[in-house]
Amino acid sequence: MLPSAARRVVSTDRTVRRTRPPATAAVLTTLPVVLLTALLTAFLTALPAMLPGTLPGVAARADGQGGPGAAGHRTAGGGGAEADGARAAGAAGTRAPKRAGAIVSLTFDDGDATHPAVARTLERHGMRGTFYVNTGTVGRERKLTRRGLAAIARAGHEIGGHTLTHLRLPELSAAEQRAQICDDRRKLVAWGYRPATLAYPFGSVDARAEAAARRCGYDAARDVGGLREFSCPACPAADTLPPRDRHAIRTASSVGPDTPLRRLKQQVFDAEKSGGVLPLVFHRVCEGCGDYSASPKLLEDFLGWLATRESHGTVVLPLGEAVGARYRPLPRGE
Ligand SMILES: [Zn+2]
Repeated sequence: MLPSAARRVVSTDRTVRRTRPPATAAVLTTLPVVLLTALLTAFLTALPAMLPGTLPGVAARADGQGGPGAAGHRTAGGGGAEADGARAAGAAGTRAPKRAGAIVSLTFDDGDATHPAVARTLERHGMRGTFYVNTGTVGRERKLTRRGLAAIARAGHEIGGHTLTHLRLPELSAAEQRAQICDDRRKLVAWGYRPATLAYPFGSVDARAEAAARRCGYDAARDVGGLREFSCPACPAADTLPPRDRHAIRTASSVGPDTPLRRLKQQVFDAEKSGGVLPLVFHRVCEGCGDYSASPKLLEDFLGWLATRESHGTVVLPLGEAVGARYRPLPRGE
C-alpha cells in the first residue's frame, strides 16, 4: 500500500511541474519546499522545549548507554549523561511541571544476590536503575559478588554507596560515621566505580550524618520516606527538582511483599501531576523471601506498565542522573 501510494504522489508532482513554464515552475515548486523546510526546522528545534522531561531524558539515556564497553566499572552517568540528566531535571522542575510528567528512579538497596537478575529485568524494559551497595558485605552469603556488581555496572546502571556494614548512622560517633561512609566510598572508587550518590541505611539520617555524606564527597543522598503514602496523605507526591535537600532526597516507604501494584501506579500518577522526581525503594526481589522483598512478578508488571507512561512525559533515570549528581573525588584527609 504505502510504496505505491508514495509513487503516485511523486508522479503527480512531476506531472504538475511539466505543465508549467520552466521559470515559474522553479519558483512555485522550490518556494513552498524552502518554507516548509524552514517551518519544520523551527518546529524540531522548539520541540525539546515544548516537551520538557521527555526528549532530554531520552537523550540522557542514549548517552549513558552509548559505550557499554567503555563504561567498564564506572557508573552509568559518564560526564555527558550526567550533564544531560541535570539539564533534563532542571527543565522538568522549572517549566510547566504539570505537563512534564515525572522522573521515576528505581533504587535497589543492600547489594543483594538477586540484583543481577533485577538489572537484567530493567534492561529488558529499556531502563536503568541505581544499586546501593555495602562494600563490607559484598561476597557474603545472599549478597552480590564483585563479579555480579561489575556486570550490573557494565550494563549502565548507577552504583551508589550504602555504607560499609549497614549501621544506623545517627547512633555512631563522628569518626565512626566517617569510616562507614568514606571508607565504603573509597572502596567503591578503588574497585573502579564513580559513586555520586549515597543511600542512608534504614533511611536513618540526621544533620551529622548528612554532613558526613557531604564531607565524603557525595553530591546527593537518598533518605527513605517523606513522600505521600497512606500514613501521610498530605506529603508531596514527589521530591522537587532540584531536591529540597539534595542530601536527604525523599521517597515513599520501601516496597515490600504486601505492596500492591496499584499503590506503585498511584504514586506515579500523583508524581506526574506534581512533576519532580519519584525515587522508589526496593531491596531483595524474590518470591516470599522476607519482609523487605518484592516479588519478581510485581516488578515485571510494574515496569511493563511504567514503560507506557513515557507517552505521558514520564521517564526512568538512575537517581544520580535524575538530580544531576556529579562524581567528585574523595576529599583529602577523609
Ligand atoms: Zn539498606
